Amino acid sequence: MKAAVIHGPGDLRIEELPRPSAGPGEVVLQVTGAGVCGSDAWLYRAGFDGLPAREQGPAPLVPGHEFAGVVVETGPGTTLELGELVADGAGVSCGTCARCREGRTNLCEQYRTLGAYHRGGLAEFVAVPEATCVRVAPFGVSGDDAALGQPMSIAHHGVSRGRVAEGDRVLLMGAGGVGAFAVWAAHQRGAEVTVVDTDPERLALAERLGAATTILSYPDGDLAEQLAGHGPWTVALETTGADAPLQAAFRALERGSRLVLLGMHHEPRALDLTWATYGELDLLGTQAHVCGVDLPAALDLLGRRAEGWADVAPVVLPLDRLVEDALLPLAEGRSRRVKSLIDPSGSVERPYRRDLPVPA
Ligand SMILES: [Zn+2]
Ligand SMILES: [Zn+2]
Repeated sequence: MKAAVIHGPGDLRIEELPRPSAGPGEVVLQVTGAGVCGSDAWLYRAGFDGLPAREQGPAPLVPGHEFAGVVVETGPGTTLELGELVADGAGVSCGTCARCREGRTNLCEQYRTLGAYHRGGLAEFVAVPEATCVRVAPFGVSGDDAALGQPMSIAHHGVSRGRVAEGDRVLLMGAGGVGAFAVWAAHQRGAEVTVVDTDPERLALAERLGAATTILSYPDGDLAEQLAGHGPWTVALETTGADAPLQAAFRALERGSRLVLLGMHHEPRALDLTWATYGELDLLGTQAHVCGVDLPAALDLLGRRAEGWADVAPVVLPLDRLVEDALLPLAEGRSRRVKSLIDPSGSVERPYRRDLPVPA
């Protein structure tokens, strides 16, 4: 089978690997679509050493943690049926540690990811624990929409951490690979969502996804000034990982509200915590998502958009275009698509499709 293999920083090759087989509790998926995001771009640039120690697994390193596929082989002790289309959440947890027993499987002591420690979905076939899969059919989801399950699940986890509910005024910083999904997730809970981004096309998409207000920010502009008169907000979702949006969101919150950190801040940040103290703000971290809770909810959210997701993921690329047309544009901050999808079995680019033929 064809697979993407990362050999070192900036060195990703499309190679032939043996097709995996299903061990106990596992199924083999023929991947129908795999999404690419900023973490993949980071991994492509940094290579194996870019992974946290716990995620450094046995070679080869096959990326891809946002994927869907059709079950083509089932291992002992599984219940999925051959031919079913499933979304995979990519988070593997032990099921027995204290956090797992609380239902917070994303904080498992042994938490490891498909597409990092384990081989991921940027390959024609992938062996996955059945526990990471959710059948998509009951949610009215089909075709390429299934491959959007994991990023929507991340967004759902963030919105849940922020306890977003009807009547909330949500400030969303960044309408990209997480933010676009978060607009829909917050809007569907009845919140009034304000979206801030530097890209007018992304803001137009955010409006189609339910944003009540969009604010075009300028990279060197004064964000606090641009937000003045629009707030305050009861929840802020920070997806950019940049300092200025974090600072602006922190200052623009109502008393007693929540700041949810979805973007990865690689640098220490200076926040005036007297405001967090006197304002009784909740600062909430997020770690991936809880497969068993967030992924079904994400599929429900995806299925509720009658027109589908072609505006978020307009094209599906073959594996040999992965670097040039998906990873490099992301790594260099010039990607024109919110989500790039790859069909590892495909040989040519094709448009997004709601219905895909089930592989024979
Ligand atoms: Zn991702
Ligand atoms: Zn555990």
